[in-house]
Amino acid sequence: MPLLRIPGLIDAHVHLREPGSTHKEDFYTGSRAALAGGFTFVLDMPNNAVPILTEKLLEEKITLAREKALCDVRFYFGTNGKNIEEFEKVSDKPEVFGLKLYCNHTTGEMLVENPDLLEKVFAGWKSAKPILVHAEGEQLVTALRLAEKHKRRIHVCHISQASEVELVRQAKIKKQKVTAGATPHHLFLTKDAIIKMKGYAMVKPPLGTEADQDALWTGLKDGTIDIVETDHAPHTRAEKEKNPPAFGVPGLETALGLMYKAVKDGRITHDDVIKFLYTNPKAIFNVPDQPDTYVEMDPELAYIVPQSGFETKCDWSPFAGMTLYGKPQSVVLRGRRVL
Ligand SMILES: [Zn+2]
Repeated sequence: MPLLRIPGLIDAHVHLREPGSTHKEDFYTGSRAALAGGFTFVLDMPNNAVPILTEKLLEEKITLAREKALCDVRFYFGTNGKNIEEFEKVSDKPEVFGLKLYCNHTTGEMLVENPDLLEKVFAGWKSAKPILVHAEGEQLVTALRLAEKHKRRIHVCHISQASEVELVRQAKIKKQKVTAGATPHHLFLTKDAIIKMKGYAMVKPPLGTEADQDALWTGLKDGTIDIVETDHAPHTRAEKEKNPPAFGVPGLETALGLMYKAVKDGRITHDDVIKFLYTNPKAIFNVPDQPDTYVEMDPELAYIVPQSGFETKCDWSPFAGMTLYGKPQSVVLRGRRVL
């Protein structure tokens, strides 16, 4: 059978760890992982060891990526609620695709919980580019309310609970400018995985129940959830085996295969795969065209996720042992073969 040709995929949520934590990933290894997974464009989060809260830090990061990345890497700016004056210096830059706001604890020191500071962030980000929120439970209620009040576009990252899917569904019914993403690990793993995988299955937001998982698939099918975003968050094996472990899992190299597994299982169609990993993220984040860029693979061809041998520097996967479909066999970026 001839190989199927699909567009270069877009991952709107990765942590490539450079600068500051290059013992677990850098722009070279992270971009190789992206290409191995069929992604030619990724959007990198600002919670580096030194968070990206100033124009200067952002420019340094852009330069590093330009020197080392093999695919297109662009960025979100960060906020701790106290760097509002930096917003207008960075929001018009073509390398910036939104503002990331952490309303709940996660890796890095960028938490904004104080209601006054949250209000300042929503008031201060005047760009048409979205505010991306890590907001669980009650914090999601607050974030949606502030986005509506200040008429800001909001993207709800890695939605994980049934109640959060419902909050976004209701906001969309009210015609609020909100979009949402789900991760492959929340779609394919439940908290039962922690029994077997221990620290390796510890993520923020935490893995949910089967009912949460069903709600995510329903949300994808009815348009409540717009995209699949990997939240590729590599940590070394030592960091995952510590107590408590570092939170997060790598995801770039397995996302497409998992989505074609979902096609095989009858949950979604081939067109859905392209919608969740290309068309919708392209529209939401206004990603520019990458001419003469495509991925070739056989969506019928099964493979087993190995224990190691990945491009990501952390070199493990929470999906090891699973049978997936459609591993990219070649990737062409702007006319040049890169995988
Ligand atoms: Zn993340």
